[in-house]
Amino acid sequence: MNLSRLLSLIAFPILAAIASQCGGETGAIDQDRMQYFKSTYDESRAEFRSLCKGLKGAVGSSLAVASTKESDLTIDTCSVGARVPQKLIIITSGLHGIEGFTGSAVQRFWMKELLSSVDHERTGYLFIHAINPFGFRLERRVTENNVDLNRNFDVTPALFSSHNDGYVKINELLNPDGKLNIGSMGNRFFPVRAVYNIIKHSMRALRQAALQGQYEFPKGIYFGGSKFEQQKSLIEPLLVKESAPYSYVMVVDLHTGYGERGKLHFFPNAIKDATIRKNIETVYAGYQVDYGDTADFYTTTGDFSEYVGKLLTAKKYIPMVFEYGTLDSQTTSGSIKSIHNMIVENQGYWNGYESEGDLNEVKHRFREHFYPSSQVWRTKVIAISAEVFPLVVDRFSKLQ
Ligand SMILES: [Zn+2]
Repeated sequence: MNLSRLLSLIAFPILAAIASQCGGETGAIDQDRMQYFKSTYDESRAEFRSLCKGLKGAVGSSLAVASTKESDLTIDTCSVGARVPQKLIIITSGLHGIEGFTGSAVQRFWMKELLSSVDHERTGYLFIHAINPFGFRLERRVTENNVDLNRNFDVTPALFSSHNDGYVKINELLNPDGKLNIGSMGNRFFPVRAVYNIIKHSMRALRQAALQGQYEFPKGIYFGGSKFEQQKSLIEPLLVKESAPYSYVMVVDLHTGYGERGKLHFFPNAIKDATIRKNIETVYAGYQVDYGDTADFYTTTGDFSEYVGKLLTAKKYIPMVFEYGTLDSQTTSGSIKSIHNMIVENQGYWNGYESEGDLNEVKHRFREHFYPSSQVWRTKVIAISAEVFPLVVDRFSKLQ
């Protein structure tokens, strides 16, 4: 690494961070569709329930999620069966709590505006709302046990004894001690420390180490748990029962926060099975699909959409993760900012904040990361969802 390359690596993230704080986002705003984006979990859920009640032929249910801190947390479902069941589309939101704001908005948009125009004869729909309601209400990604649910699903508990060596090496960077002070030298110069680690370990190694999931640091970021969270025993019987009449199942798991701002990324975990890969390429033809094993992405353990395939082995299966990008995390500066947001939010949650100001700033950054307030961004979310949904449903319904 020569000096100018080193300087550009250090300077770029800092300049980009400054620029992104100054620059406004321009673009069209679809005022009518802003109604889908709610301010709280409870509001989002109330709308989901009432929409389901009004849908012809739909059946809703609520699964209680136990909590020692909160009351009335539920995962809600809305099932619209096919007359001649062949194919089932399962659309899930809020696996990462705070990402449920957008996931819920997209689910309700589809239920309200698009469901009537797509195939119901042979294709059924199961909407699962707020898989992690604790995180949704408290605006965290993780559960009450600090577990990242997209690192916690599998058909055997083998993942809980896995060891992430790369994570251990950068644990001090990812999980600092002490109360959170956003203005501290360590936080101000986080981009520099991150770049130092990028040089030392490579961006790809660093991203993979941090993001793949870990099972050894219960208060650390990307903790996958020491056992299955209650969500597995709540959802598993539902998945088995609902999919029983169908031979084909497709999951669309809705997320935000990773990838280019305003763009929808199709981001399944690494897929080895040739038939599944071929079906994904048919259904998502014309769109770029970023498998977890390609250069700018990462693979994970305990992935939810992969788990559904392992659970329903008798079915033909298509997993898909929709990521609505917010922070340009495909760039070095965006990815440094993303990981920093994760670190400070987690540090503050466990160790406390130096001041009320620190708390507010971190909460604000975290919310903007996973649920941007920009109406331009929200308009793009709906526009791209409106384009993709009918197309994907149509192609899926025609799969042999
Ligand atoms: Zn997510």
